[in-house]
Amino acid sequence: MRKELFDFLNTDLQFVKGVGPVLASRFDDVLGGRRVLDFMLHVPSYVRARGVTECVADGVAGETLTIPLLVKSHRRGGFFRGRRAPTQVVCADKTGATVVLQFFNTRFLDYWLEKLPIGAWRMVSGKLEKSARATINHPDFIEEMQNAGKIPQTQAIYPSGEGLTQKTFAAVRDQIFAALPDKMMGETDSDTREFFDALAHVHYPADDADLAPNSKYIVKLAYWELLAHQTAIAISRRNRHDPRNRRTVRPQKYNLLEKFYATLPFDLTGAQKRTIDDIFADMSADVPMMRLVQGDVGSGKTIVALAAAVRMAEFGAQTAMLAPTDALAMQHYAKLKTMCDKIGIVCDILTGRDKGASRREKLISLRSGRTRLVIGTHALFSDDVEYRDLGLVIVDEQHRFGVTQREALRAKGENPDMLALSATPIPRTLSMTIYGDMDVSIINEKPAGRLPIITTKLPTSRIADLVARLKSQIAAGAKVFWVCPLVDDSDDNGAAAATARYEYLREFFPTAGLVHGQMDKKQRDATMAQFADNDSDMSILVATTVIEVGIDVPRATIIVIENAEQFGLAALHQLRGRVGRGNAQSYCILLYGKSTSENGMRRLSVLCETDDGFAIAEQDLMMRGTGELIGTRQSGWINYHFADWREHRDLFRLASAAARDMDVPTPWARDLMFIFNRRTQLGA
Ligand code: ADP
Ligand code: MG
Repeated sequence: MRKELFDFLNTDLQFVKGVGPVLASRFDDVLGGRRVLDFMLHVPSYVRARGVTECVADGVAGETLTIPLLVKSHRRGGFFRGRRAPTQVVCADKTGATVVLQFFNTRFLDYWLEKLPIGAWRMVSGKLEKSARATINHPDFIEEMQNAGKIPQTQAIYPSGEGLTQKTFAAVRDQIFAALPDKMMGETDSDTREFFDALAHVHYPADDADLAPNSKYIVKLAYWELLAHQTAIAISRRNRHDPRNRRTVRPQKYNLLEKFYATLPFDLTGAQKRTIDDIFADMSADVPMMRLVQGDVGSGKTIVALAAAVRMAEFGAQTAMLAPTDALAMQHYAKLKTMCDKIGIVCDILTGRDKGASRREKLISLRSGRTRLVIGTHALFSDDVEYRDLGLVIVDEQHRFGVTQREALRAKGENPDMLALSATPIPRTLSMTIYGDMDVSIINEKPAGRLPIITTKLPTSRIADLVARLKSQIAAGAKVFWVCPLVDDSDDNGAAAATARYEYLREFFPTAGLVHGQMDKKQRDATMAQFADNDSDMSILVATTVIEVGIDVPRATIIVIENAEQFGLAALHQLRGRVGRGNAQSYCILLYGKSTSENGMRRLSVLCETDDGFAIAEQDLMMRGTGELIGTRQSGWINYHFADWREHRDLFRLASAAARDMDVPTPWARDLMFIFNRRTQLGA
């Protein structure tokens, strides 16, 4: 591929007109990268029609309504009995029927009200809620009548995130795809042309069929994505077994494991012991270890990883543990540091937050070899980070990292051992193709005394019964996570729905808390911390899924998932893992809506019947009809952009065979590896 095109794909989104550093980092959160290319690989989830309806009576509840409205009055929200009420703009359609526009966020209130002057007609577009009266929460578009044409007739809806609107997505997309032909000038390679042509169709879909798993564009892109992945695996496998990469096995210098086992407050499970045996055997072989440890949330993977780090310290060498987010890195560090202190291993943390003198000190300690275990984010493989003798790289939640990233960290040592941890149970039939270059250990046993989470399903209409049940549980000391779905297509990402639910629950539980993506981050962190605090009386935390509820809250034994039918099995299973971490009995209540499909009900039944991630993954593989789910590709077991192992099983096989057949990767396969490797800036 030509340099100009490469440079364009590598461009940081902050340099796209109208984006800037703040939006770019928000995109980073959603896209898992901040290059133009990362945006291009982000597929819309569906197409929304926005034709104009003249009378609100013709609108369908729950669907998008575009309608001319006359603004009648503003009712500013204020505090009412100690509670913040939403601001309402009361309007009328041409028949005089009332439509209320509601705004929950007070920060941008003046902005909204200026766009809606009293006495003026405006074209308004947003999701219609019909309860007592027609309401639109946070309209997507408000235009003066002469600009009504600016509201698109059809709109590709992107899976969104905090602080990003569909309008922003559309604007960035338009700029990127307008610049593309110019960057492709002189590009004669037909694969490249076909690739970007397929991408353009996906970003400007005519209808939902263009985005379906069997659309010719998606199939093409999925195959290429899999080919990229399989080629990388083939290369990595070849490298590992290359005789030139044989290593001399390190001699043991210190005795630390006995102390380590003696300080453990519990007995290891059989599965943990077996996994540790697998790992230690690999660590004394002359081929570097490449092992994946799979086990459900709470199965005790961290201790297993720590055992490996302790073993490496016995060799006098270092271990780097890579976590996907700052928060997870800090959580690991807090736990592992105490254990390391007890056995005299120097443990440190390094994230993007470390700056200046403290960072320099940390780097010196790493370079000298004094730090034996370092936990961190991708800051661990920044250019200026040097290790004295990096012997082991541990990657937590490995599906979030690309093969290339893994290799970048590996390059910091000399053929170091690799250990990946994953809570993502991939069906056995597929783990060979997906993790083809790795040996796998499975922790399929929960620590003793752990009770299975009791899971039940309940129609949302019976919410009052649930509240009554919760009251007695909370009185007995339980804490409750209440998850409201991320609404893919609303620009507030479900903040309004969560706020409404919070208001409802506060009637019964005055100490409830609320976190959503529209809130100030400081306030949000404070609320989360308050909920996690054992001594606080905050009993219920209402949260949207935008919020990482990954924090450990030992007293949280109940999780309620609203509109559970809209989630995939993988997402539900992972959410459920927020509870059941201690020895108390935990519960998961799946609330479902009136119009839940048969498939939706089947998914919920699977969850009620089993707690075993592998069994759930097998069921997931057999079920189809994932199209109805929100954020399907993102919340699955493994994050591909285009490929879905439920829908594209034959493509997996084809790509795997094609990659194995290549003695040397073709130039196009190399290009594909560049395209599909996240967060890399490789030039060729
Ligand atoms: P994972 O990373 O697999 O989700 P963790 O390693 O974080 O799980 O372990 C979950 C909890 O279980 C931790 O508090 C850990 O200390 C505890 N734990 C791990 N192994 C055992 C065991 N064999 N017996 C009892 N508790 C354990
Ligand atoms: Mg873990």
